[in-house]
Amino acid sequence: MFQVKLTAPYTFETEEAEKPRPAEGQVLLKVCSVGICGSDIQMYHGRHKYMTYPVVIGHEVSAVVEETGAGVRDFAPGDRVTVEPQIFCGKCYPCLIGRFNVCEKLEVMGVHRDGFCREYAALGASYLHRCPADMKEEWPALMEPLAVGVGSVKRGGDPRGANIAVVGAGTIGNCAAQAAKAMGAAGVLIADISAPKLEFAERCGIEHCADTTKTSLADAIGRAFGPRGADVIIDAVGVPASLSSILGAARRSSVVVVTGNFKEPFSLEVPIIQRQEISLVGHMMYVREDFADAIRLAGSGAVNLGGLITQRFPIARGPAAALKGAFEFIDAHPAQVMKAIVTFS
Ligand SMILES: [Zn+2]
Ligand SMILES: [Zn+2]
Repeated sequence: MFQVKLTAPYTFETEEAEKPRPAEGQVLLKVCSVGICGSDIQMYHGRHKYMTYPVVIGHEVSAVVEETGAGVRDFAPGDRVTVEPQIFCGKCYPCLIGRFNVCEKLEVMGVHRDGFCREYAALGASYLHRCPADMKEEWPALMEPLAVGVGSVKRGGDPRGANIAVVGAGTIGNCAAQAAKAMGAAGVLIADISAPKLEFAERCGIEHCADTTKTSLADAIGRAFGPRGADVIIDAVGVPASLSSILGAARRSSVVVVTGNFKEPFSLEVPIIQRQEISLVGHMMYVREDFADAIRLAGSGAVNLGGLITQRFPIARGPAAALKGAFEFIDAHPAQVMKAIVTFS
């Protein structure tokens, strides 16, 4: 079988590897498609702080069970699955309180360990989630970003009846806004500076879509939610300007959830946080229930993922070149890309 390694910034190499055999408790997966994520792009650019080359990238995977090892009862050949790619210790304090996503020894497949840009992978059954058999073949790869969206909404508290604003209409922001709506928010607003991303959010049924090149976030929230304002604001961008505008638009007693990846420290209007009793909470990836919720929401149609995949790059011929082509396309056309995937069939 082949696998593709990112060996240095901007450099992919195809490698022949032996097809793995599932050990006891493991499942052999045949990979169908892999989503390309913002963190993959950081790795490609050599700007990811916590990884080392070489690595098989890819942590958003759609796969089919090919074979099961001894002792595996929950999965059978032919099952459509996705992988929750976090590897945690289960012993540190965050693990003991159920926040495995911030385990002190957390490693992520496709970042710290080999991921899924390869034909087959064998891994423990506990990392898998079964997806409905009638789910579109590529959608299991979208459960990872959707789980991030679900997790970010939950970090804001109980979404039922809440007014929730999401800043950033890329994949994570879109998933967070759709998840908020599906999980019972009273009102959902999404804001961005990209017209195509806002149009897409509108097509997904988000009722308030604000172009912040034309209006301030505070005004958009006022128009959408009235005097009550936003109970929760999710930062799905992760640049100083986004979080500063969020603090300016937050109501007294709002919860602000930071799920975007900030690259550098910067100074913040802390007096607003203190005087207005704003709760500023960080959010990282997901826990297992968030993944299960993502699959349930997508499977029931409460979240619409149709159209989220904007580009497909077949990997069958010249895998390294296909990946390189995909990343070059994303670099050259950021406005056109919601989610690009590489397909193996
Ligand atoms: Zn991802
Ligand atoms: Zn741990």
